[in-house]
Amino acid sequence: MAKAKKKKESNKKTLLSQESMDFLKLYHNTHSPVGFESSGQRVWLDYIKPYCDQHYVDPYGTAVAIINPDAPFKVVIEAHADEISWFVNYISDNGLIYLKRNGGVDHQVAPAKRVWIHGKKGPVKAVFGWPAIHTRLGNPEQKEPQPKVDNLFLDCGARSKKEVEQLGIHIGAVVTNQDGFEEIAFDYFIARAFDNRIGGFMIAQVARLLHENKKKLPFALYVVNAVQEEIGLRGAEMIARRIKPDIAIITDVTHDTNTPMINKTIEGDIMCGKGPSLAYAPAVHNKLLQLVEQVAEEKEIPVQWRALSRSTGTDTDSFAYANDGCPSVLISIPLRYMHTPVEMLHKNDIESTIQLIYETLLKINPKMNLNYIN
Ligand SMILES: [Zn+2]
Repeated sequence: MAKAKKKKESNKKTLLSQESMDFLKLYHNTHSPVGFESSGQRVWLDYIKPYCDQHYVDPYGTAVAIINPDAPFKVVIEAHADEISWFVNYISDNGLIYLKRNGGVDHQVAPAKRVWIHGKKGPVKAVFGWPAIHTRLGNPEQKEPQPKVDNLFLDCGARSKKEVEQLGIHIGAVVTNQDGFEEIAFDYFIARAFDNRIGGFMIAQVARLLHENKKKLPFALYVVNAVQEEIGLRGAEMIARRIKPDIAIITDVTHDTNTPMINKTIEGDIMCGKGPSLAYAPAVHNKLLQLVEQVAEEKEIPVQWRALSRSTGTDTDSFAYANDGCPSVLISIPLRYMHTPVEMLHKNDIESTIQLIYETLLKINPKMNLNYIN
């Protein structure tokens, strides 16, 4: 009975305060395109600094906050800070702007979206232009055009290449969607690039909880917000080599497969609101996964299962295969409409994921035996 009471109390502490919600909104409304993550990283560091003993930023912008830095055993909790975006690639004589992908931006959902072009004179407003339905259907013989990288263009109001350049827009300027954070009914949130700023938010909340609950860890905890995941897990690769952690807990988003046109026989069965997803995969360390599973069971945190194969497609791969091999585990939060400007997730899953990472850290002991064969 007493035990049950205690559990309720600890659950309560993970509930998101108004201050946490303010950080969540600010962080998601700050643009953080792949390779140009500094603005987002500044917001993240400002938030997490009071909860950590030390921090640094590596040469490519990965931010690291450390708790208990002198302990020899090193545990990482990690998320990626970058958001998918576009590069300005070509400016036509009549002032239209053609693009190249910077990460897996979705050409199918691009038309008619409002964007920011991050030029040398500050952000410039623009839209993805698209021919009107009337002009597309004028000739019944003609097939409807499909949006593709080579026919998508931005219109910023300029009517010549010179006018585009006057605005500070240049080849290589990055482009992000304007869509921001919003709360909708039944505790769902929408934002562009929850993938994976929600991870950065969650690991920062774990640091806050450890600090507020005055937990003393028997290891050094590295809270890592890595850059350049979306173009091949690069930030994680760099920082894993630098830290040389003993254990890594990676967090990212995963697909809610309960919306139309997704094949569950291929993608598995994951749903928003039913808790974080744990994955089996060769890169995921069996014994570490067992520990997380045990914590979820003990603390009655709901989890959902997935199977992944050759790669997890997340920073888990970078950490697991770094150095001499680093026992790594992946904890993912379910998300609808990944890589669109209306990514959607559920508040309960945010809280459960924070709690699962937090409670797992409290269980990790440097003397733990993680050998597969003894
Ligand atoms: Zn992604």
